[in-house]
Amino acid sequence: MNAVLQHDLNDFENILEKAKQQGLGFLNNLDTIPTSNKETIDINRDLNELGLGSLAALEEFNTRLAPLMVASPGPRYWGFVTGGSTPASIVGDWLASVYDQNTQAVKAQGGATALIEFETINLLLQLLDLPKSFLGGFVTGATMSNFTCLGVARQWYGKQFGKDFAKEGISETIHILSATPHSSSIKTLSMLGIGSNNYTTIKTIEGNREAIDIEDLERNIETLNGKPFILISSAGTVNTADFDDFEAISKLKEKHNFWWHIDAAFGGFAAVSEKFKPYVRGWEGADSITIDCHKWLNVPYESAFYLIKKEHVNLQVETFQNTNAPYLGNPLENFNYLNVLPENSRRLKALPVWFSLLAYGKKGIQDIVENSALMALHFGNALVEDGNFELMARIRLNNVCFTLKGDHNQEKVMAFLTSLNDSGKVFMTPTVYRGRKGIRASFVNWRTSENDIRIVIEEMKAVFSEVY
Ligand SMILES: *Cc1c(COP(=O)(O)O)cnc(C)c1O
Repeated sequence: MNAVLQHDLNDFENILEKAKQQGLGFLNNLDTIPTSNKETIDINRDLNELGLGSLAALEEFNTRLAPLMVASPGPRYWGFVTGGSTPASIVGDWLASVYDQNTQAVKAQGGATALIEFETINLLLQLLDLPKSFLGGFVTGATMSNFTCLGVARQWYGKQFGKDFAKEGISETIHILSATPHSSSIKTLSMLGIGSNNYTTIKTIEGNREAIDIEDLERNIETLNGKPFILISSAGTVNTADFDDFEAISKLKEKHNFWWHIDAAFGGFAAVSEKFKPYVRGWEGADSITIDCHKWLNVPYESAFYLIKKEHVNLQVETFQNTNAPYLGNPLENFNYLNVLPENSRRLKALPVWFSLLAYGKKGIQDIVENSALMALHFGNALVEDGNFELMARIRLNNVCFTLKGDHNQEKVMAFLTSLNDSGKVFMTPTVYRGRKGIRASFVNWRTSENDIRIVIEEMKAVFSEVY
């Protein structure tokens, strides 16, 4: 064994202890670590001939790289839809690295850790009150989950014409309908060879809504003259956390032949609260659902899962079967993740979620979701009270979309947001909503408290008076 490796092996306990202390130094100070910084590094470091050993590498990490880190798992990082990581999820994540399994099969072929993933999906179905008719698995994020689901939808579409798109390529125009698709679904259309331009935008409900107008959807379906289509619907749009009407879409499913996909990246967690559950009523009728865990479930990146109805498993295998795999027989019996999703080798991605669900239970997740929604309301109320801001939409769940009050202030929105983000006290994302510049604050972090709202509002007042 290489001498440096041998030295590290002998010193392993001490090295891990140092890493633990370092981790605690970050996590215990998230409150005061800036949410943004202007640090940069010279990336042209020469590779050393002889190894430094883990501890010296850690020292260099601390002097050169650690300053780049921002408090994105902290309570005031409200940009994008950014979750933190709970203690149990970090335990799961660390142990996933320690055990370093290649999670694929459910029957022991050198390990059956896919059973852990099955159990985790089963726990998630219970959490979200979804039926066991869904089969699920973990991927890196909602983008890859959308890719997996829509990949199977593409295969389903070909089958409606007796064609195998996975084998032969796409030879029919694929009709995709959606009202407010997330950018990652559009990216997925590009990756799947369908084309990012090739979808039809359905109107949204009148009156400041992002949800699909069912009547306009029906009109568009009529023009297809009975041809199949794929519907990409939303459970939680990023600007206003709006939800399509899933009960109405379920009814359409009785009359029309389409693949129904729901992007529920963060909004799916509405299901864990009695208060918000009505938003997702009827979603169990979907063919496929995308849900992120690194957002509202507060597990570390990269964690998301897809749910696809079991009845479609053959289409799923046709789409993702590894060509070197032996004949599968019944894919459910000889189940292997490498045949049903994009990746072949994969870590035990389910473990951080498994730990979180066991550690905090249904109630723990419900409390996170309801606290986030409450913080969104508090923040919204404080903005209105302040008088210099206006809400661009009703706060339905956890996202607050707002802007500087008055159209004459539109040109100042970006300058305001840049100064605010530069303060390092909070981070929010710019957006455009209904043709106007706005700012989006998304509440999903388990740590966020009323005190954080106070800190941010104070900072916003200060920045506002600066910008003017
Ligand atoms: C965040 C998000 C995505 C993309 O998720 P990633 O985890 O970043 O890949 C897709 N859809 C919606 C609605 C989202 O909020």
